[in-house]
Amino acid sequence: MDIEFLSAIVCKVSGFGGSNPLDPPLKDVDAFNHFFHDDILDTDRLDKKDGCCTRRELILRFLLLNAVLDQGPDIEGVREMMVNIIDDLYSKEIRIFHKPLDFFKEIDISVDDIIHHHDRIKGVRSKDWADRNQSTPNKYNLYMDNCKQTLNYAIFRWGVPIAVPYLLSKDCGGEEKEATCLGDYLSRFPSSEVMSENLKSHHRYGMGKAIGDKACHLFAKWVVSRFRLIEKDDDSGWGEYSYEVPFDSNAGRVLWRVGYFLELADESEYIKKDVIQREKGKEGTHYIRVTNIRKMIVGKETPRHIVDLYNDICIGHLKKAKMRSQKIQIQRFQHPILMQQNNKVSEFDDGLIAIGRNYCLNHGNPDCKNCPINDICRGYNSDPSLITNYRT
Ligand code: SF4
Repeated sequence: MDIEFLSAIVCKVSGFGGSNPLDPPLKDVDAFNHFFHDDILDTDRLDKKDGCCTRRELILRFLLLNAVLDQGPDIEGVREMMVNIIDDLYSKEIRIFHKPLDFFKEIDISVDDIIHHHDRIKGVRSKDWADRNQSTPNKYNLYMDNCKQTLNYAIFRWGVPIAVPYLLSKDCGGEEKEATCLGDYLSRFPSSEVMSENLKSHHRYGMGKAIGDKACHLFAKWVVSRFRLIEKDDDSGWGEYSYEVPFDSNAGRVLWRVGYFLELADESEYIKKDVIQREKGKEGTHYIRVTNIRKMIVGKETPRHIVDLYNDICIGHLKKAKMRSQKIQIQRFQHPILMQQNNKVSEFDDGLIAIGRNYCLNHGNPDCKNCPINDICRGYNSDPSLITNYRT
């Protein structure tokens, strides 16, 4: 294992992410405008009531919906659509974060708004998107999983995250508790990593297939690192290393092409786990399915100090282990390096997103010349097959 090479990647990606954060569009939502002063969230008033809920609670409800929706081929388009729909619904007194039931009571209006804004944004953005991604405008679709049915998208992807605080408010027994019910529920978990797992899998409140692992971790990143909505004094379970990187296809593509993943395991091991699916990608290329990397173990000998720090993080920050282990999960490998460098998980993730979306596009001719990590990228400098033969 070339730990210096891996550290250089982590350092460069985090440095780029630190200066190019991709914040959720909270301040663009009309209903939240007054939570900001000069574009900065007024954190002193997070516990002030705004109608029936505190500002903190409303932001959490918004971020949960945003995390579920924040994926697909054109995130800017998704975000514009989401903000426009929320603004439209609020202008009609359908206050989906204050009164989640409104979304379902007025489902005809909710569905109309989704169709209207999706089609409008498709008209404006699809041609440029197709040019950039070597695709065709008619493939532009902001509903997830290439779904084309609006009711399915509305109920499954909007309705489920909106229903979580609704169910919690029914269960919490009292108006006063309703004002903070989602925040109270989330902060019960010992770490943001355990919280993010429960977003998906909790027996009563879990969202199941409506939310992906990546979205759960994205939510944790926003709650812990971006807005600091849940903080516990002296509790590293809610600190900067308390959640996994929200690996998505952009992250997978960049980390494969740059040579990071192949320093951690051989290609044959990735094939065994279906992370690399031979000839299943576009134009006969190999498909990278980074979500299958979860729980995969590093196959190369790892320096002792990295193993030690890794164990400290799993036990004390992620709170996902009680005993030390020699096995390191690839998904968490960067955590000890980040901690040593005093870089953050959120910066590493922001860097991967920014590079994946702006330079390392999902075709055979990414913008390597201008890419901020091209000096250490093995795909660019020594093995072009890492670029030409793989897609996400
Ligand atoms: S140099 Fe090229 S292949 Fe390497 S990460 Fe940047 S855009 Fe991707």
